[in-house]
Amino acid sequence: MGPEFILPQHTTERRDRFDVAIVGAGPGGLTAAIYCSRARLATVVVERNTAGGIMAITERIENYPGFPEGVSGLDLSEKMKSQAATFGADLREITTVAAIDRQTDGGWVVVTDEERIQARAVILAPGVEARKLGIPGESEFLGRGVSYCATCDGALYRDKKVAVIGGGDSAVEEGLFLTKFASDVYVIHRRDELRAQKIIQERAFANPRMHFLWNSQARRIFGAGKVEGVDYQSVIDKAVVTLPVDGVFFYVGQLPNTDFLQGLVDLDPGGYIRTDERLMTSQPALFAIGDARAGRIKQIANAVGEGALAAIEAEKYLDALACAAAASAKKCDE
Ligand code: NAP
Repeated sequence: MGPEFILPQHTTERRDRFDVAIVGAGPGGLTAAIYCSRARLATVVVERNTAGGIMAITERIENYPGFPEGVSGLDLSEKMKSQAATFGADLREITTVAAIDRQTDGGWVVVTDEERIQARAVILAPGVEARKLGIPGESEFLGRGVSYCATCDGALYRDKKVAVIGGGDSAVEEGLFLTKFASDVYVIHRRDELRAQKIIQERAFANPRMHFLWNSQARRIFGAGKVEGVDYQSVIDKAVVTLPVDGVFFYVGQLPNTDFLQGLVDLDPGGYIRTDERLMTSQPALFAIGDARAGRIKQIANAVGEGALAAIEAEKYLDALACAAAASAKKCDE
């Protein structure tokens, strides 16, 4: 049994019916697109940001196999994107996915701001976005000293002082990246040890531009028109200290982009998508992969593996459906 909507290679036709629609073009979504297209399933990928997701705004990736010198997140994203396109995946930039609606024939409609895309199966790879800490000044100074992306904004802080809030991989890696520009990077962390991987910690502790403010909570960003400093408070003696800085980068975790899935699929209390071992959600023909999936380690290598698995499972699922529908169902089973 083959794909239902076989896609001619290099077609210029804008179609609205596919075998598989993939929501999100991060490493998981793009891998799923490569596998689906190679299985000759008509495949569309919709993405509201740059292909690659958070990977695309990661300065350097050192733990993805095959790149002993590391690779820029943007380069890796572009390579995955072009690989998916080479095999025939249709990559579409959209503003937002408003809803995923069930069709009477068991398939799905991905409703974007621009069009309605029908697909027999959908792979959800919506990823995550930066969590806001919600302290005074954080939203007020966004773009005027407050940032969630060192790769995007780091170069603005040449020879300046910046603060990084958080103690995970993102905070410490991005803090290290900021030392290429900033004279001093102050990591404000609420505990007295980092959550970041040990190799990243070693590098950070060895870097004379990195400074650690332990057991401290950022309380307020202040300035006149742009950031001039941050007040932070000791969680031990509650003393409040003012740190003059020109920029504050927040890395206090991530939130899944799953609002559009509320009420449709089973989500965990944090909003992450629950799946079974085939990566199928609580709805048939709706798979989920990557950072927005519940209970997984958030690594590019993992997202890639899940992308491959979901694509293979989606193909099997569609084959089984087609067999069941065919008059020669018995022949399919053999
Ligand atoms: P994360 O691992 O969830 O770390 C968030 C950090 O923010 C933690 O240090 C946490 O403190 C702190 N934090 C959370 N809420 C806070 C609050 N209300 N006030 C003050 N501090 C707060 O998030 P992440 O660093 O963005 O990483 C997300 C995922 O991506 C992780 O699984 C990570 O391993 C992965 N990642 C991997 C790499 C890599 O492999 N190179 C790079 C980037 C990210 P506590 O430590 O006290 O909880």
